[in-house]
Amino acid sequence: MKQSNILVTGGCGFIGSNFIRYLVNNCQNDFNLIVNYDCLTYAGCVENIRDISNKNHIFINGNINDRILINKTLRDYDINIIVNFAAETHVDRSIDNSNIFFETNVNGVVNLLNNFRGYTPSSSDKKLFIQISTDEVYGSLTESAPSFIETSPLQPSSPYSASKAAAELVCYSYYKTYGLPVIITNCSNNYGPYQFPEKLIPLMTLNALEKKPLPVYGNGRNIRDWIHVDDHSRAVLSIIKSGKIGEKYNIGGNCEMRNIDIINHLCDIIAEFKSEPIDDYKKLINYVTDRPGHDWRYSVDFSKLKNETHWEPIVDIKEGLRSVVKWYMNNTNWREAIHKNKYQRERLGVI
Ligand code: NAD
Repeated sequence: MKQSNILVTGGCGFIGSNFIRYLVNNCQNDFNLIVNYDCLTYAGCVENIRDISNKNHIFINGNINDRILINKTLRDYDINIIVNFAAETHVDRSIDNSNIFFETNVNGVVNLLNNFRGYTPSSSDKKLFIQISTDEVYGSLTESAPSFIETSPLQPSSPYSASKAAAELVCYSYYKTYGLPVIITNCSNNYGPYQFPEKLIPLMTLNALEKKPLPVYGNGRNIRDWIHVDDHSRAVLSIIKSGKIGEKYNIGGNCEMRNIDIINHLCDIIAEFKSEPIDDYKKLINYVTDRPGHDWRYSVDFSKLKNETHWEPIVDIKEGLRSVVKWYMNNTNWREAIHKNKYQRERLGVI
C-alpha cells in the first residue's frame, strides 16, 4: 500500500470529507496522492474540505457517471485504489423521488467498475475497489433478533437501500466475472462533524440550537447502531491494508440506541453547554407521522473485521456526541455556508 494513489469519490460529503481529513492527518506516508472526485450535489460542499490544505490532495468536480472524466482521472493520476463514497444518501428523498438514487448509486457504480476494469495502474502497488455500502441493505430487525452478519440476506426496505443493495450485487459480479479486486463494506449510522443537517444528529442539534421543533418519526423507539465517523475511517483503512478481496465486512459502533434517546442526550448536552433548563429543549420534541417502510432496528456483527484486522470502534458515544455538538455550535461559518448553498439551490430549483 506504500505510496498508493487513491481516488475518493464523494469526498466533499460527510463521510468522504472526514475520511480524506483522516488520511491527510494520519497516513501521510501511505498515500502519494489523494484525489477527491465529487460533483457537489446539495449534500456535497467545498466548505467540508476547506481546512484540508495538503499538496497531495486534489479536488476534481465531476460526476461518477461521466465515463470520459473518470477514465481520464484514473490515468492522469495513476490511481490504484478507489473508495466509492459517492451516493445519494437520504432515505426520505429516495421515497419522494428514487430516479437519481438509481442513476448515481447503481449506474454510477457500474461506470466506475467498467473504467477501473479496463485500466492498469503503472505503479506496482495493488489495485483495489472499495464499495462503501450500508447496514440498511439487510433490512429491519426485531428487538431480540441477532445482529446481521455478512451472509445475512439483502432485504432492503427503501429505494435508497435497494439502490445500495443493487450496487453491492454489481460489485460482487465484477469480482466473480472479471476478477476485479473488489471489497464491500456495510457500515452502521455515522455521526460526526460536517454532516448535512437533514440526518438525525445534525438536524436535531441545529434545530435545538435555534429553538425550532425536533421532529421525531413514529414513537421514536426505532433503534440504530451509531459509529463515530473517525472510527469508520479507521475501519476502511484497515480494510485497505488487510481486507480480503471479494469479501464483505460489516462495520459497527457497538452502540445501539433508540432515536428518542439520542435526541434526549442531545438536549441534555445543549442545555448544559448553554446553561439553560433541559426542559427548554425537551419541550421542542414533536412526534410526527412515521416514515413509510421505516426499518425498526439495525445492528451489525462486526466480529469478522475485528478478527481479521483487529479494528474496533474506540469513540465513546457520550464523548462523541459532546464533541460533535460542540463542533456544530462553534462552526457557525460552516453552518452559514451550508444554509447559503441550500438557499441558492432552492432558488435555482435544484434541491
Ligand atoms: P453524503 O450525502 O453526505 O455525501 C455524498 C457525497 O457524494 C456528496 O459530496 C455528493 O456531492 C457526492 N455525490 C453524489 N452523487 C454523486 C455523483 N453522481 N458523482 C459524484 N459525486 C456524487 O453521504 P455520506 O453520509 O457521507 O455517505 C457516504 C457513503 O457512505 C454513501 O455511499 C452512503 O451510502 C454510505 N453510508 C453512509 C452512512 C451514514 O450514516 N451516513 C452509513 C453507512 C454507509
